[in-house]
This record gives sequence, structure tokens and C-alpha cells, in this order.
Amino acid sequence: MASLFDPAEGLGLLREVGAYLRGHFLLTTGRHSDQFFLLARLTEYPDALEPWSEALARRLSPYGVRTVVGPAVGGIIPAYAVASHWLGSRMLFAEKDGKGGMMFKRGFSIEPGESVVVVEDAVTTGSSVAKVVAAVKSAGGKVAAVGALVDRSEGRLRFDEPLVALVRVDNIPHWEPSNCPLCREGVELTRPKS
Ligand SMILES: [Zn+2]
Repeated sequence: MASLFDPAEGLGLLREVGAYLRGHFLLTTGRHSDQFFLLARLTEYPDALEPWSEALARRLSPYGVRTVVGPAVGGIIPAYAVASHWLGSRMLFAEKDGKGGMMFKRGFSIEPGESVVVVEDAVTTGSSVAKVVAAVKSAGGKVAAVGALVDRSEGRLRFDEPLVALVRVDNIPHWEPSNCPLCREGVELTRPKS
């Protein structure tokens, strides 16, 4: 029998593998924060990812979908891992189209009317997810739900589909650089993804 996924244990594991960092970080929004999720450090360890993908597959299974779509790059491994729990499923990924959106390349296609779930590693504003949802819809498909390992959206989501997330983290502080206490303390600013 599958074990139940415990969000507190999950967060602890993220800290252990270096996927949930404390420090002084430059966010893509230009703001600064003292916390950062780097989920590539979780997907680095297939064994560690397994309970997450198993739990997410279980939580998404009521949607009865067998096609999983991930936004490149961060969504590819989690989407693949979720799909691996569903017999006869397929997994495709969408990539940047060079015009600010996402598109399917590599011969990937969605059947007209096909229902999919979109799986992402961490959702903040959900802008990548929104672009993938748009790509699915323009291909004639439907998005039944969005799955994420970590939800740190705090109500900023840019898509309308239901979100199924394993861990939700609220109240992560972030500041304008001019108002950042870590800058004032002279703590070195880092960009964890580069
Ligand atoms: Zn700062």
C-alpha cells in the first residue's frame, strides 16, 4: 500500500537535498527574498522524487487523464515521474516559442478534445503554467487540472484550472532591493538558478 505523503516531512527533505534554500536571493521579479526553491535539487535524486510523484499521481488520478504536460525545463522531470505511475499514459513538454509564449515542438501533438494535466515543479505566479495551458488549448486540448510539487503562489495564480499541490508555503518574505534588510546587512546576493 502506498504511504501517505506528509508535507512537513516533504519540506524537511527539500531542505536536506538543497531544494529549499535560505540566504539572500534575487527573484525573477527583481525582488529579493531570504528563501528560494530550487526543485532541480530534488529531481536530481530519483529515489527522493519518487514519493512526491507517487503522491501527486494519486491526487491527480480522479481527473481520469492519461496525458501529462510539463513546461520545459522545470516541469519535465516531475511531469514524466507522474506519468510513470499511470499505465498507458504519455508525457509531453512545451518549450519557449521565442515570442514570450510556449509551444509544442519535436512532433508532440494534442488530439482535439484531449484532456491533459499540466505538471510543474514549483508554482509562484503560474506564468509558465498559463503559457502551457494556452498552448494546450490552441492545440485543441483541455486542461483538467494543474499539479505542482510546491505551491508558493499566495493567491497570485494566472490560470483558472484547479491546482493540486503537495506542499504549500505561504508568507515567504520578499522586498524591493531598496527596502531589503539583507542588502542593508551586506549579505551577498545570489541567483541560485544561474
Ligand atoms: Zn537584498
